Amino acid sequence: MIYLDWAATAQPDLQALQAGLDITRSYFGNPSSLHKLGREAERVLNECRLSLSSYLDCWPEELYFTSGGTEANNLIINSILNNLGEKYTGQPKVITSGLEHDSIYKPALALAHWGAKVVVIKANPGNGRLDLSMLEQELDEQTRLVSLMFVNNETGVIQPVKEAVQLVKQFSQKAGRRILFHTDAVQALGKIPFSLKELDVDTAAFSAHKIGGPKGVGCLYIRKGLQLDPVYKGGEQEQGIRPGTENLPGIYAFSEAVQNSFDNHEHTLQSCSIIMKGFIEKLKMIPGLVFLPEERGSVPEAAHFSQFILKVAIPPIPGEVLVRVLEDKDIYVSTGSACSSRKKEKNHVLYNMGVPDKIAASSIRISLGPSTKEEELNALLKALKQEIPTLMKATKS
Ligand code: PLP
Repeated sequence: MIYLDWAATAQPDLQALQAGLDITRSYFGNPSSLHKLGREAERVLNECRLSLSSYLDCWPEELYFTSGGTEANNLIINSILNNLGEKYTGQPKVITSGLEHDSIYKPALALAHWGAKVVVIKANPGNGRLDLSMLEQELDEQTRLVSLMFVNNETGVIQPVKEAVQLVKQFSQKAGRRILFHTDAVQALGKIPFSLKELDVDTAAFSAHKIGGPKGVGCLYIRKGLQLDPVYKGGEQEQGIRPGTENLPGIYAFSEAVQNSFDNHEHTLQSCSIIMKGFIEKLKMIPGLVFLPEERGSVPEAAHFSQFILKVAIPPIPGEVLVRVLEDKDIYVSTGSACSSRKKEKNHVLYNMGVPDKIAASSIRISLGPSTKEEELNALLKALKQEIPTLMKATKS
């Protein structure tokens, strides 16, 4: 089996998952219980928070455990929704990007139904990076939230979040009012080095299963002192921001997976960079293959590309057909985001990068992880070379 769909979910870090299971035996108490078993479980929970905060470079009390990236993202948008009509007058404005994962994109667009003006920033078609001049133009007195993702889950383009934060901070200082800046950092954790303090975002979303941790676990960073309206009610867990008994085994496994991925980061990054570069060179030999964005093929070493995610298209072969044909050879890639890959909707990420629909429909995503080997990418290449001529004929006829 050749697994090249790590951006959908990483192969499990079995040591981390086992550690989570082990903790369940010794610390099964409810972290909110007053007795010793509860206090011990709470201590372990807070140790996980402390450990995670040291890798993310924030305070432990700034981290709130959630059921994953989707919930963390939705919490931010919905908390803004709760406050839409308060404090300020006039129509509130929310700025996001057309590259966002559905867990930001969909709830952000839904804010329009509640009276907000929602502005979607597009990306440069050549390099896939967000157009910050558009952000600059759109910032105004009515802006409440800017939400821009860190690493795109389909193309692997690293977005200029730090620069965007600076623009927003400068504007909000001048305007004398706060504009919340959120980033979806799900595909950044363990993949590119960053510090939350340096990035200076107000809130950020993370997920465990993208780095080998369990599915259904993640966390939300909320800068100290920021008052967010709880979306759910019914408990005081996670300072009331995310009530409900904490998933201690999952959280423990999450913090172990983070530790393991940071311990191995340099080695993983180096090996993936080398094999990704070689793979891109070989892909260039395939007639008609298009890199998305284009610059990925011409400047693969550019600092704004994640070494773990690659998007290409081989028009007119539909991406879906390619995924199935490769699956028959026990090679697993995807068309795009796992959350939307079964839908027939237009791919909003590629659309907002200016990619024509016909090319978008032919795209596949190849994503790597710590155990990916050069031979696996060679096998994918061989399979593509074998299958493309027949598929081309079949699609054109
Ligand atoms: N944000 C991005 C960029 C993602 O790639 C994903 C996962 O596909 C998510 C959010 C959602 O995370 P989760 O699967 O933990 O809900």
